[in-house]
Amino acid sequence: MPDMVSGTSQREKEMKIYNFSAGPAMLPEAVMRKAQAEFIDFQGSGSGILELSHRGKFFQPVIDRAEANVRELLNISDDYAVCFVQGGASMQFAMLAMNLLNGGTADYVDTGVWSNKAAKEAKMFGNVNIVASSRDDKYDHIPAASEWKLTPGAAYMHITSNNTIAGTQYIDLPTAPAGVPLIADMSSDVMSRMFDINKFGMVYAGAQKNIGPAGVALVIIRKDLAARTDESKVPTMLRYSTYINEGSMFNTPPTFAIYILALITDWLKENGGIAAMEQHNNAKAKMLYDFLDESSFYASPVAKADRSRMNVVFRTPSDELDAKFVSEATACGLTQLKGHRLVGGCRASIYNAMPVEGVQALIDFMKKFECANK
Ligand SMILES: *Cc1c(COP(=O)(O)O)cnc(C)c1O
Repeated sequence: MPDMVSGTSQREKEMKIYNFSAGPAMLPEAVMRKAQAEFIDFQGSGSGILELSHRGKFFQPVIDRAEANVRELLNISDDYAVCFVQGGASMQFAMLAMNLLNGGTADYVDTGVWSNKAAKEAKMFGNVNIVASSRDDKYDHIPAASEWKLTPGAAYMHITSNNTIAGTQYIDLPTAPAGVPLIADMSSDVMSRMFDINKFGMVYAGAQKNIGPAGVALVIIRKDLAARTDESKVPTMLRYSTYINEGSMFNTPPTFAIYILALITDWLKENGGIAAMEQHNNAKAKMLYDFLDESSFYASPVAKADRSRMNVVFRTPSDELDAKFVSEATACGLTQLKGHRLVGGCRASIYNAMPVEGVQALIDFMKKFECANK
């Protein structure tokens, strides 16, 4: 049994663990240490962070800081609202359409399991036009924007900026036709790369990949879009205007998740912001893809131009070797490398918190495994 009292968990022992989970994912160690201390006594209040009223004098500055950090890091103007919503990215699939579709037609680019699910939910509230899909190719690429069959005057256009399961990503984010709000599910690459929020009507992300724990989704929405909701048809808790008017506190918000998001965005600011993060992420992804390209043992099924810098999908020559790879890697402290059940193979998720050393350790292990098994 781990010695909980003295804190000699696996984390303190000699073997360094690198966790490649797709989500919930690795958090920066400095953030966890700080949260550990404040878990018991938040800023001298005598109560732990989980015990404090959301309306009290201790929590309000936390949620204010979370919002201010998000605004600063992503350079968000007052034209946009920043909201913290429960229900994850999956609830946004429906909430978005409830608020902004209202019987109209929305365009969706089908680039993976998540965009497919988003489109399915939207269909309950209006027409969905799938402008392009790579489904028949097992989502191994992003369909070229020049081939999209757009709806003139669509209520909005929806993309999934990074496809967590398939391992693809829009390296260049698209633009929507004039007057059509572009909406992105950025659950698995928000704050990992630079982008111009002003090109979007709304961006949403479950926090548990790059910016926090499970339990909160970040929603950044242009205020004039939020005003389009037909309030007679959408329940209070599902209207963006409720979150905007009540500072995300119409009811009790997920205080712990928002608190961790505040700490992670503090950490991002201390470490050079999004530009530095993008460099760090590009460097890690390049190391891994360069290695895959040189190898005749490992292969990546993803089109080179669309390779995700967050989720690197690869396979060994057989399903049996994939399984052996995952289990031997785990024994060496490289955990959660199993590919998504729908895709199989292996997947290394290398979000912001994954250090370069973790990627190097993975490559070193891959080399050894190749020698022993080819
Ligand atoms: C993980 C993920 C989701 C689902 O997030 P939940 O918060 O679990 O609902 C949606 N979209 C993308 C791109 C994801 O990576």
